[in-house]
Amino acid sequence: MKKLISLFLCVVLLMGLMPVASAENSCGCGFSPVIYVGALGCADIYRDAGLPTEQRLWQIDTDFILANIKPELLDLTLGIAASDYDKIGDVLIKVVNKTLGDLALDQNGDSAENVTAPSLNFPTNRSHNADTQFYFNYDFRLDPYIHADRLNECIVELKRITGHDKVQLKASSMGGIVLSCYLERYGYDDVETIITQCSPLWGTAVAGELFTGKFELNAISLRRYAQGALPYMEESDFIEGVIYSLTDVLLVTGVWSGLIALGDNFVNKLIDRVYDEALVPIFGSMPGIWAFVPQEYYEDSLEFMGTDKESVLYEKIASYRIAQANLVDNLTVAKNDGVKLYFVCGYNVQRTPLVSAWKNTSDGIVDTKYASLGATCADLGEELSSEYINNLSDKTYLSPDNMIDASTCAFPDNTWFLRDWLHCTGNAALTEFYKYFLTSDEQITIDNEKYPQYLLYDTNAVTLTPVTKNLTAFEIFKMSPTFLNFIRMLSEFITKLFYMLLGDR
Ligand SMILES: [Zn+2]
Repeated sequence: MKKLISLFLCVVLLMGLMPVASAENSCGCGFSPVIYVGALGCADIYRDAGLPTEQRLWQIDTDFILANIKPELLDLTLGIAASDYDKIGDVLIKVVNKTLGDLALDQNGDSAENVTAPSLNFPTNRSHNADTQFYFNYDFRLDPYIHADRLNECIVELKRITGHDKVQLKASSMGGIVLSCYLERYGYDDVETIITQCSPLWGTAVAGELFTGKFELNAISLRRYAQGALPYMEESDFIEGVIYSLTDVLLVTGVWSGLIALGDNFVNKLIDRVYDEALVPIFGSMPGIWAFVPQEYYEDSLEFMGTDKESVLYEKIASYRIAQANLVDNLTVAKNDGVKLYFVCGYNVQRTPLVSAWKNTSDGIVDTKYASLGATCADLGEELSSEYINNLSDKTYLSPDNMIDASTCAFPDNTWFLRDWLHCTGNAALTEFYKYFLTSDEQITIDNEKYPQYLLYDTNAVTLTPVTKNLTAFEIFKMSPTFLNFIRMLSEFITKLFYMLLGDR
């Protein structure tokens, strides 16, 4: 009987203690805290941080560039006056090296000791909801596994201080590279939700092409690039219209072509030196930048960049390939075990017009096919061929504008496409969109009522609306008769005429 009483007392004692013990740590809010894994450039990098000689190297400090250019102005002017490309090259390479050279890593892929990112965040605030997210930043140059290790520490700490047993991860752009390494090394046990936004999960063609030396200047992409920036300029409709028509007039009169020829000439003369004396030593030394190279460019890039396969740097570069190669498998296992997945990608934006992959549809930086893990995309400004579309047995994943087929994606039901969304830009409509995912207990798929797979991102109207079929400029003008739309209509007509008469370029 005594034993029974003491057992009873023990149970009472334990029951009394247990809620107290767990209440101290657990949070009943039902919303797992969010870690926002930042993009490239999320942390500033300094030389001599805290010393009188301190200099910010990244984000690049305009005053610092100017200070580096100033002493070279005379040489630059003389070089230009004499069309002396060697001299111009000398000056440019000197300025680039003075401005960016200290960012270069050594043969081991390590930074110089006096070049650091001094303000890396660690969680201290236990308040958390969809609006209060922990911002994870990192030194983009380094081996992304280093960031994965620190991300893991942050997750453990955030779980501890908030009392939740899982976190939600939202990775922006390069954050997806860090996420890939995290999943490869630490798995998904601590993760409830994964969101990637415009992430180069399979790389970006720009990195692949720069590391294989494929420069290309071309009139159509330059013009589209200039026009694509227009809605982001805070000008009136009238000014926009004038600039828009000007770019077309320039195209028609061949000024663009002249610029291109000049550019080609200039680029050809300088390109070898810029690679050898600036680009290779600086960016080729960064495992973080290597992670942007798509697999299809990888071997050629190693050869072109002359990477020493015996070096520690190479080991770091190569180990990321494993995280990239295993990503879909890692995500699949996570998904099957209940982790919610959301991939958000932009399309229909002209990318940096310097590379031969300028026709790839993208968000301006990351190719849609790489951010979406395998969507089939029409070339920019075009639709998928009618042959391709007719052969599709299931058109569920075909975009209403016929530009993208998501059925070839690794996770077609979990992947969203935002038309006209410029890389890493955001607005209130997008915030609402993410909140819808973050606050849902269940996986939301593309067949939900609110957000279908293809959405039009309107930066001026601050809306995300379902994509419809492509309208001609005339149809758009009829719906919204602004001056800009009138000019667009005229421009479409002139451009058509121009290509009909003269062909491409
Ligand atoms: Zn909570």
